[in-house]
Amino acid sequence: MKPLSKSKLIAFRQCPKRLWLEVHRPELREDSPGTCASFQVGYQVGDIAKRLYDPAGQGAEIDVALMGYQVAFERSAELLARSRLPIFEAGFSAAGALAFADVMLPDSVGGWRMVEIKSSTSVKDYHRDDSAIQAYIAKSAGVRLSSVSLACIDNSWVYPGHADYRGLLKETDLTAEAFARAAEVEGWISKAHEVVAQPSEPIIATGDQCGTPFECGYCTYCNSAKSQPEFPLHWFPNSGALRSRMAKEGINDMRGVADDLLSAKQQTVKRATLSNAVYFDAPGAAADLASHGFPALFLDFETIQFAIPIWKGTRPYQQIPFQFSLHTLCATGKLVHTAFLDLSGHDPSEYFARSLIEACGTSGPIFVYNAGFESTRIRELAERFAILAEPLLAILPRIVDLLPVARNRYYHPSQQGSWSIKAVLPAAVPGLSYESLVGVRDGSMAMEAFVEALAPDISADRKAEIHRQLHAYCRLDTFAMVRLWQFFNGRNDPPLSDDY
Ligand code: SF4
Repeated sequence: MKPLSKSKLIAFRQCPKRLWLEVHRPELREDSPGTCASFQVGYQVGDIAKRLYDPAGQGAEIDVALMGYQVAFERSAELLARSRLPIFEAGFSAAGALAFADVMLPDSVGGWRMVEIKSSTSVKDYHRDDSAIQAYIAKSAGVRLSSVSLACIDNSWVYPGHADYRGLLKETDLTAEAFARAAEVEGWISKAHEVVAQPSEPIIATGDQCGTPFECGYCTYCNSAKSQPEFPLHWFPNSGALRSRMAKEGINDMRGVADDLLSAKQQTVKRATLSNAVYFDAPGAAADLASHGFPALFLDFETIQFAIPIWKGTRPYQQIPFQFSLHTLCATGKLVHTAFLDLSGHDPSEYFARSLIEACGTSGPIFVYNAGFESTRIRELAERFAILAEPLLAILPRIVDLLPVARNRYYHPSQQGSWSIKAVLPAAVPGLSYESLVGVRDGSMAMEAFVEALAPDISADRKAEIHRQLHAYCRLDTFAMVRLWQFFNGRNDPPLSDDY
């Protein structure tokens, strides 16, 4: 019986079919860009953890890719028996399972402390399963384990600079819980082996488990095996509870849901979708915007966040704005564009804040799409830079959100349940869409491009290209808002120049 790794056991905990596919059909797995990005963050946090737990660099690291499994287990056992220095990626194999511990630290009584490193900011339920599995396998392999902890990122910690990351990780002791679940883990291992031994994949329907606690890499495969609904329930807004209820009744298409189970907005979506007709409350949209005069400003931010902060004074996962685009529409119809983009590699925050204050001036409504995002970033900047707090906070009362206008007054069947500006724009303003952009076409691509531009070895040409792409992307965001504002207002202004 081949031992099952901890990750296979975690896959089993999510869905037995996932485990079976991981073992027998790994080629079918398709990890999303988000999953790949989270792996990368995990590696970066792991590297910092090595520096934090072994500042003198005297510990040992087990490299299973280099050594192979057998040598890795033997070398780990040898170090655990003789060494009193930190060990990274120590491997254990016992009781039909195997695992590698992120960090093993010698305790004061001849045993070991196990620390698992996580890039999340809090302990999740699957982390508790993870720790219980690790502890069970290590103890079954004969390791004198005195404690099990989870080290997560402390997102309240502020980076003091100079590559000093002490305080980045916050440990939670899970010893009692992990040790108490030995019998449970034994049961999981036994059942997981039974699943693996089955000649064909378990018959399990897709459901909530496919995205919890991880986005399963077999979604495409599992969904391709069944007929897809023409009008899926996830097109209904706020449909989590409704979908769970309908799943129990075997209903996965809008046509199967009675109207009296739907909110007013869900009924609007259903009607528009099934009749393939646009819903547009034009008088309501115009009334929502009627009180706002000129100049009308249209603002959008792009931000970056790092699990491991790179700029002094910032926190893990803090959203740091590095770019804005601002269109200003005058009463005469003249449209002026202003922008900020910092690819210097220095913390862009203060320069961003000063440029924003100057660009916004002191009068006129400032339209955004999803006000919570921009407003929160402005408040955060005001907290960081007390000297700029007053002019920054003065921007907030001027902010007007276009998203609720879109949500409450407009729905086109092509939106398929989304009111993101990328879904609403091509429906409301045909001919204008994000598809025509080159390179950067959404927020996550903007983040990736920004990180690429900061690489010390990037060529000047590539950096200039990224600059152009980011500029064009953010500029389209605010131009899209101008056009949506015109559309919702029912205005017949002369068409604005394509050269926005
Ligand atoms: S997609 Fe869902 S049903 Fe299919 S293996 Fe993954 S979790 Fe299981």
